Amino acid sequence: MSQVRVRFAPSPTGFFHIGSARTALFNWLYARHTGGVFILRIEDTDKERNSEEFLRVIYDSLRWLGMDWDEGPGVGGSFGPYRQSERAPIYRDYLERLRSAGRTYEKDGATFFRISGEPQVIDDAIRGRVERTEEKDFVIVRSDGNPVFHFVNVVDDLAMRVTHVIRGEDHLSNTSKHTELFRAFGAPLPVYAHIPLILKQNGPGKMSKRDQGALIEEYQRRGFQPEALVNFLCLLGWSPKNDAEKMPLEEIIRLFDLPGINQSNARFDERKLAHMNMAYLHDMPAARYVPLARGFLERGGFFGTTPVDADYLREVLTLCQVKVRSLEELPAAIGFFFREDFAIDPKARDKVLAKGDPCARLRELRAALEQADFSTDATLEAAVQALAVQQGMQTADYIHPGRLAVSGVSAGPTFYGIFRVLGRERVQRRIDRFLASHSPTP
Ligand code: GLU
Repeated sequence: MSQVRVRFAPSPTGFFHIGSARTALFNWLYARHTGGVFILRIEDTDKERNSEEFLRVIYDSLRWLGMDWDEGPGVGGSFGPYRQSERAPIYRDYLERLRSAGRTYEKDGATFFRISGEPQVIDDAIRGRVERTEEKDFVIVRSDGNPVFHFVNVVDDLAMRVTHVIRGEDHLSNTSKHTELFRAFGAPLPVYAHIPLILKQNGPGKMSKRDQGALIEEYQRRGFQPEALVNFLCLLGWSPKNDAEKMPLEEIIRLFDLPGINQSNARFDERKLAHMNMAYLHDMPAARYVPLARGFLERGGFFGTTPVDADYLREVLTLCQVKVRSLEELPAAIGFFFREDFAIDPKARDKVLAKGDPCARLRELRAALEQADFSTDATLEAAVQALAVQQGMQTADYIHPGRLAVSGVSAGPTFYGIFRVLGRERVQRRIDRFLASHSPTP
């Protein structure tokens, strides 16, 4: 078989959203899986609704997600230009071919395509056999001289030698117009693969650009990992036969194929995406994670003007690495490591104060920490265990109030890790402060 040529053909009329990214990704994966060519074609003939800003977002988002294109704006190729707004002479040429074949006529200033009226049958790679018959001639060039989507879309697929049209199912109903045109040009049909829709997280209906969590650049801004998003997106409508979830990109490329795309609609689940992102952050080597997290915090102004100790920051970040679903959660998760005026969560406090004598435990803990070895989590754990045995208590009797006193909350990274990273002096100071404001004055 000749080389696979696929294209992603966005219209820059709105922000780049999950649905578009998924369509782009399936095309890109198919090209990479088959050793084919991934073309980026900009369908910008609708001058009123296009904007350069939307176009920039498309380029940025594709690059951010790692979907490099082999032909298209910025990289060129033998079948350019790759923006429809620059292809007017090509459309005139193709229009002329239809005209001389007697397949067009003018009416009210517009150019109509004369349909064959034959049943249009395709063997869709996802949907199987689909048949539809066009019943009316349709406009291919409007009275203002602008060619219509159906026409330019087919002309470009033909001229760019596209072999596979992988696109959203919302275009399935257009396909009979497209195949009418292909046949009128005497050209063979590309393979069609119409991808099922993405349903919105809650309730019926297709996800739209306006739905919560729809915009790709939002994820970029919020510090999501592009690899995680790609992994999540590929599972929206495609499944490897082995139930795997987190997969290296090379593995996705190796396994991706059109028969693996589901016929049923996929539902967007932001929790699943957050979970995927967390898994990617979790598995990242510190040498990559630390500068990434640091850059994110710096851009958000987290450190203000205070200089930050690189070693301390690295300890904090690696300790909390497994606890955040995305980098945007970092400032809240690590705040208490960098300031003394952190808030004490009233719910957590009420719970801790309701049981036993937490202030007595904190005093015992504070005293025991005087001699404790803060160099590893294990030595700290041994110290707290010894204290508990000595006092006939459980380690939990020390851990709960201890955690609250030094971090203000009841959850977070490991207790001994927090103590180790904060260090003796800070921990003791915080326990003292907690005791001063929570134990009844004698
Ligand atoms: N410009 C069309 C869209 O954004 C592309 C349709 C196609 O892929 O054929 O939906």
